[in-house]
Amino acid sequence: MGVALGLARRCPPSRTAYSVGAVLVGADGRELASGYSRDTDDTVHAEESALARYAGGDLGKATLYSTLEPCSRRASRPVPCARLIIDAGVGRVVLAWREPALFVSEPSGVELLEAAGIEVVELPELAAAARAVNAHLVG
Ligand SMILES: [Zn+2]
Repeated sequence: MGVALGLARRCPPSRTAYSVGAVLVGADGRELASGYSRDTDDTVHAEESALARYAGGDLGKATLYSTLEPCSRRASRPVPCARLIIDAGVGRVVLAWREPALFVSEPSGVELLEAAGIEVVELPELAAAARAVNAHLVG
């Protein structure tokens, strides 16, 4: 998650989207791919970017670390990150900060992931650090 937080700090700031970092880690602890908000285009999300960079293979024992709860709805693209993670077959998601009700009224990324059988681990002790990168949005 430390790596993901470092990536979040590299995001080009946006008034309409969070700065988020995501790292995909294999069962052996090796980093498979990573991404951060707006790293490849103006609207790409961190988790989406990391998954897009992964060349393939079974992710059932992999963990996706994200500084923010994967989105359940988004304005910029039809498929939210929670759905991309489910479709990619990722076994476990670790997040630092729950999505605030700022851009969508009832964020439910965690519920979507858990309903799909994905193990979700929250690290509330790191929520403040993940939020601090977004101080321009949430104070
Ligand atoms: Zn997203």
